[in-house]
Amino acid sequence: MTWRERAECRDAAPEIFFAGYGTGRGGVSDRWSSQRRTAMRICGRCEVIETCRAYALSMGVNSDFGIWGGTTTAQRHEIRRQTPTAPREALTGLVGSG
Ligand code: SF4
Repeated sequence: MTWRERAECRDAAPEIFFAGYGTGRGGVSDRWSSQRRTAMRICGRCEVIETCRAYALSMGVNSDFGIWGGTTTAQRHEIRRQTPTAPREALTGLVGSG
């Protein structure tokens, strides 16, 4: 079984994890904030959160959108900025598990 098959979000609506992304609109609406909080709660009980976060950190910055591993795009950018040369697996300990 792959980590994606064990993901807590496997049956969740994808829009929850990508709320507001790709709309071209600035800011985060209350609705998007609510959806992101829901996504974070799902991540918080996910058994593969560390693997998921490492996967997201390994993405190219320009293709990195949405909630992955209990982090937002901005949080992952900050992790990369703080530790640009560290292996992605080591970076996963820098943020809480949700
Ligand atoms: S950590 Fe969150 S986004 Fe990643 S697989 Fe688990 S529930 Fe899905």
